[in-house]
Amino acid sequence: EKGEDVIATLARSFNGMADSLQSQIKELAELSRVQQRFVSDVSHELRTPLTTIRLAGDVLYDQRGSFPASTARTAELLHAQVQRFELLLNDLLEISRYDAGSVQLETEPTNLVHLAEDAIDGMRTLAESKGTDLRLVAPGGHLDAEVDPRRIRRILHNLIGNAIEHGEGKPVVVSVDSDQSAVALAVRDYGLGMSDADAQRVFDRFWRADPSRKRTIGGTGLGLAISLEDATAHGGHLEVWSMPGKGSCFRLTLPRTERGRITSSPLPLPP
Ligand code: ADP
Repeated sequence: EKGEDVIATLARSFNGMADSLQSQIKELAELSRVQQRFVSDVSHELRTPLTTIRLAGDVLYDQRGSFPASTARTAELLHAQVQRFELLLNDLLEISRYDAGSVQLETEPTNLVHLAEDAIDGMRTLAESKGTDLRLVAPGGHLDAEVDPRRIRRILHNLIGNAIEHGEGKPVVVSVDSDQSAVALAVRDYGLGMSDADAQRVFDRFWRADPSRKRTIGGTGLGLAISLEDATAHGGHLEVWSMPGKGSCFRLTLPRTERGRITSSPLPLPP
C-alpha cells in the first residue's frame, strides 16, 4: 500500500512538472514569436523612411561632380551606407520570413548548369575588379532539378561573392556535379581560408571573421545564414571545408528530383 502511495505521489508531482514545463515552453514559444514579429515589424517600418533617404541621397550622389571635394565625398559615403542599410533590411526581412515559416519555394524544373553559368555571369564584373579568374567546371548538357531558381542563384551569388572577396585574387572555381541521388554545386577559392573555429561559426547569423581583416563595404553577416535556410528549405545541405592560407570550399547538395519532385503535402494513396 505504501508503495502505491509513493507511486501516486510521484505520478502527481511528475504531472505537475510536465504541466509547468509545457506552460513554460508555450511561454517561450510565444516570446520567440513576439521577437520574430518585432524584427519583421521594425524592418517593415524602417523601409519607408529609408526609401526617402535613398531618393534624397541619390540626388546628392548624382550631383556630386558639382560639389567641393569634401562634400562629394560625404555624398558618396551616404550613398554607400544607404545601400548597405537596404541590403541589411532585405536580409532581415528574409530571415524573419524563414523564422515565421512563411517562405514558399517557387520551384520549377531547372537546368543547374545554366543556372551556374548565369550566376557566374552576374559576378564577372566583381571578379574582374579583383583580378579573379572565375571558372566553371561542369558536365556538358543538362543537369535538371526541381528547385526555386531565384533562391539557388542567390546561394551561388553569396558563395561566389565571398570566394572573390576572401580569395586574394586567386582563381575561384565553381563546379557542378551529380550522382544517382544528389546534385552538388561547389564554390572553391584558394585565398585566406579559415580556422576550424571560424568555419564552425560561418553559418551563424551576423557572424563575421576577425574584424581586423580590412574590408571595403562588406555584407551583412547574414548571407550564409540565409543560404543555409535556402538549402535546408530545398531538402539540401550546405557544407564548408576550409584551411587557413589554403582557401575554402562551400558545397551545396540538393536532392536529385529529375524523376519526381519532393512534396511536403501527403500524396493521395491508391485505393
Ligand atoms: P558577409 O559576407 O556579409 O560577411 P556571410 O554570412 O556571407 O556574411 O559570411 C560570414 C563570414 O564568413 C564572412 O564575413 C567571412 O568572415 C567568412 N567567410 C565566408 N566565406 C568565406 C570564404 N570563402 N573565405 C574566407 N572566409 C569566408
